[in-house]
Amino acid sequence: MSTLPISFEDVVAAHERIRGIAHRTPVLTSTTANERTGAELFFKCESFQRMGAFKFRGAYNAIAQFTPEQRAGGVITFSSGNHAQAIALSAKLLGVKAVIVMPNDAPAIKVEATRGYGGEVIFYDRYTEDREALGKRLAAERGLTLIPPYDHPHVMAGQGTAAKELFEEAGALDMLFVPLGGGGLLSGCATAAHALAPACTVIGVEPEAGNDGQRSLRTGAIVHIETPKTLADGAQTQHLGNDTFAVIRERVREIVTVSDAELVEAMKFFASRMKIVVEPTGCLAAAAVLSQKLDVRGKRVGIVISGGNVDLQRFAELTGN
Ligand SMILES: *Cc1c(COP(=O)(O)O)cnc(C)c1O
Repeated sequence: MSTLPISFEDVVAAHERIRGIAHRTPVLTSTTANERTGAELFFKCESFQRMGAFKFRGAYNAIAQFTPEQRAGGVITFSSGNHAQAIALSAKLLGVKAVIVMPNDAPAIKVEATRGYGGEVIFYDRYTEDREALGKRLAAERGLTLIPPYDHPHVMAGQGTAAKELFEEAGALDMLFVPLGGGGLLSGCATAAHALAPACTVIGVEPEAGNDGQRSLRTGAIVHIETPKTLADGAQTQHLGNDTFAVIRERVREIVTVSDAELVEAMKFFASRMKIVVEPTGCLAAAAVLSQKLDVRGKRVGIVISGGNVDLQRFAELTGN
């Protein structure tokens, strides 16, 4: 029997919990992208998820399992943005108080959205302070339950529902490309793939500036790095989690990297050809396929577009020339 932190049954149970609350996001196709790559591509568009990213799935799945005491006490998290909004929105829907520890350089759109959902925001400096330590201290002081952005079985199982829906809609796939930060999305999606399409090769994609995941998979031990400087602000993690890595090392074949320039190319492609707004981090998986990091010719390929939260002005700067 498997001793991994999550099983496919956990993903199925999460899917039941979020049913009718999270959106079942569309799977888009593009003839142009197919012609460019020689593959048949299926884009799972979590940019259309509630609050604009897949993170709603895991956050809601986690808070929905709180005990009455935990619900009364409230939830706290630390996040580069999308998880913060996901926790704030999920907490609001479930009638739970939310406290969010955020970097002081988080995109304005993410800070405003978190406050808009009723979350209390506490800032820290991502280059000098330890957000995990701060989150844990506040949790203890105020009686809040900490839900981290990726290294938690309920979060991981929730994120896996995105791939479950993709396989249900697109059928068996030969390859699945998934953005990688701390590995909540990748570990959940790989768990769904293993059950629903055992022959599918699962590939994680992270920013070139922070290839700790790639090095971790290759060496078999979690590699820690400095906060990477990349456009992909949702993947500026310093290391994988213990639980996410346990799943990733068993279920993920390979981790590839893409440059910021390749992310911008993908953003432009999505805007001009597919008429969708995707944030830089959301483009990781697509950028790897469009810039042909691996041979996908003749394959049926799933691509998770993980989010669409980007300031309009920033979007215009990045895609405008
Ligand atoms: C958080 C996030 C990621 C990375 O997810 P992990 O579970 O940390 O690997 C990728 N894309 C977007 C848009 C995100 O918000």
